[in-house]
Amino acid sequence: MTKARKKVVVIGAGFGGLQVIKSLANNNQFEVLAIDKKNHHLFQPLLYQVATAVLSPADIAIPTRSITTNYKNVKILYGEVTDIDFQKKEVKFQNNIEKYDYLVIASGAKTSYFGNTNWESKTLGLKNLKDALAIRRQILLSFEQAELIGDYEKAKSLMHYVIIGGGPTGVELAGSIAELSHNIIRKDFRNIDSGMTKVTLIEAGPKLLNAFSDLSSQFTKQKLESRGVEVLTNSPVIDITDSGVVLKDRTIESKTIIWAAGVEGSELAKKITLNKDKANRILVDEFCRSLDYQDVFVIGDAANFSKNLSRPLPGVSPVAMQQGRYVAKFILNLEKNKKTASFQYFDKGIMATIGRTDAVAEFGSIRLKGLFGWLGWLFVHLVYQVGFKNKMSTLISWVWSYLTFRAGSRLIQEEVTDPSVRS
Ligand SMILES: Cc1cc2nc3c(=O)[nH]c(=O)nc-3n(C[C@H](O)[C@H](O)[C@H](O)COP(=O)(O)OP(=O)(O)OC[C@H]3O[C@@H](n4cnc5c(N)ncnc54)[C@H](O)[C@@H]3O)c2cc1C
Repeated sequence: MTKARKKVVVIGAGFGGLQVIKSLANNNQFEVLAIDKKNHHLFQPLLYQVATAVLSPADIAIPTRSITTNYKNVKILYGEVTDIDFQKKEVKFQNNIEKYDYLVIASGAKTSYFGNTNWESKTLGLKNLKDALAIRRQILLSFEQAELIGDYEKAKSLMHYVIIGGGPTGVELAGSIAELSHNIIRKDFRNIDSGMTKVTLIEAGPKLLNAFSDLSSQFTKQKLESRGVEVLTNSPVIDITDSGVVLKDRTIESKTIIWAAGVEGSELAKKITLNKDKANRILVDEFCRSLDYQDVFVIGDAANFSKNLSRPLPGVSPVAMQQGRYVAKFILNLEKNKKTASFQYFDKGIMATIGRTDAVAEFGSIRLKGLFGWLGWLFVHLVYQVGFKNKMSTLISWVWSYLTFRAGSRLIQEEVTDPSVRS
């Protein structure tokens, strides 16, 4: 008698979820159902390049359905999971209910304002394509408005970009906005000099890139400053108002404030009744299983994996990908009544780019900075892009931007309307 196929439901087809799907693909022991509220897999590390008009959305995203075309046992459904009944082993989404034998929660994270919910409407976050396009629109629009005003003093707050959070995303955005305004678009305006644009990067802690060595952190600060970025460390944000950012000793007036200061567990993680930490990340054991249910696994940014560690594993894509492959193997072994050793993270290192020809990278005791760091960064970010077409289009855009000092995706999608005609 043939054994009934076990059903694995995966919530989220991001970095972690996709690895579960790939590892169980075309294995007839399993029926795999992946549910995602986005129809595409997104390469988040390059989101900042969409936000600063270097790349187009389609360069860094790929329809999930097209990745799984040849995985006959995999079904993709486009929906937002809103509830899970762990007793009945049911997942609820878009008026559907699906049963599971094994559940993998890979729902990622969302932007966190550390309880200051009113700051959300005054800033722009960077977590998905919609966010990146909103930042791109705001930056391009502010230059157009400044050109209309035609007077730097009056357009000052339009031409001042403030980024809060000195981690890799904040550093990459600051470097890229400085490059866009000081170099790339400078010759395109007649009434304003976009080279007078101010970019301020604010970090609450004592240094940029907290996870890096002091040497890499100092190098990053110095390189950003040489590109015209004002770097403020030890500067916790007290408040954010309609006119700007309030610090202990001053207020920085700006019409564009980007929040890159933190993330917390997804909306779904917030709702469900599993053991969680303060940031709504679900606590897991050494096998990436929730502490509450043996058939529920949680991976990537949604999880707090801290077993035998001094602090939880970081919210980076290698953690999610390795945990995805591990959980698939764990489930396969379970079906064979085989034991699986506990999850071990293999740390491949950390990197962040500052701008053209400058990046920092650390692999254990090996440290790269400047051009070699940048070449390493380019290579890694091309290799890990999903899909040949995306790798090629990204490479072509990079080579073109590098050689011509231009950015190809400077589109504002909506038409402007004249308020005096409409009112
Ligand atoms: C701007 C930015 C830059 C980054 N740069 C780097 C970097 O340089 N290097 C690095 O290693 N990491 C980087 N990261 C972090 C990295 O992207 C994450 O660690 C990684 O994406 C985590 O993978 P995941 O599978 O846990 O979640 P994700 O990849 O975020 O996937 C989660 C998926 O779940 C889906 N989902 C969420 N809720 C639901 C729901 N209720 N129902 C259905 N679907 C749902 C989402 O649509 C999404 O597709 C960056 C992140 C950001 C935002």
